[in-house]
Amino acid sequence: MLDPDQIERVLVVMAHPDDVDFGSAGTMANLVEHGVHVTYCLVTDGDAGGSDRTISRSEMAAIRRREQTAAAHVVGVKDLVFLGHPDGRVQNTLELRRDISRVIREVRPQVVVCQSPERNLDRIFASHPDHLAAGEAAMCAVYPDARNPFAHPELLEAGLEPWSVVEIWLSGHSQSMDAVDVTDQVDRKFEALLCHLSQHTDPAGMQVRVREWMRRTAEVLGLPEGRYVEAFRVVNAG
Ligand SMILES: [Zn+2]
Repeated sequence: MLDPDQIERVLVVMAHPDDVDFGSAGTMANLVEHGVHVTYCLVTDGDAGGSDRTISRSEMAAIRRREQTAAAHVVGVKDLVFLGHPDGRVQNTLELRRDISRVIREVRPQVVVCQSPERNLDRIFASHPDHLAAGEAAMCAVYPDARNPFAHPELLEAGLEPWSVVEIWLSGHSQSMDAVDVTDQVDRKFEALLCHLSQHTDPAGMQVRVREWMRRTAEVLGLPEGRYVEAFRVVNAG
């Protein structure tokens, strides 16, 4: 796993608003503190989220863009790209691969953080079908699309030169062995998570569950008592 001082730019590609805050917001806060420029790319607006049937889906999309933007600001992330694919129907299409490749060529990150394309049989909520599809599309965009000048030729025609990402950090993978100690960032992670007001029916219970999950991950990966981590499966793409 690259150290923060080996990284200039990170691109996070996630299926829904709030995904990054559950799995990676502490890590992003840590990277921003080290001077790394972080950009979020959201595949959908999360318009199928929440359970209030009186809110129209277009209204929900607008709410969730606002919530994700506020959550990003809490951890120091100012650049967000919303691709606007429909929530609940994400597929690994050539169109989605092209859209993510475009953002990779624009941002030129050393690291792409995305969701595991492999189903995690230990945690069904990590493996929402949109997460699997978005993760697979992001990996296809890293290799080969973004670095191949002949993939999606309209990108080169638009002046976007090929770009090779060095590492992929998968979130939600069953073999996440690379831990980022986010104990010092954990309060801001929860502040970011709580920005997603439309999604929390039990914010206190959510915090207890996420905190316990981060503590247990730290324990499993051999960190000292009282530490909190976010863990990733690192894929070498360089
Ligand atoms: Zn999600």
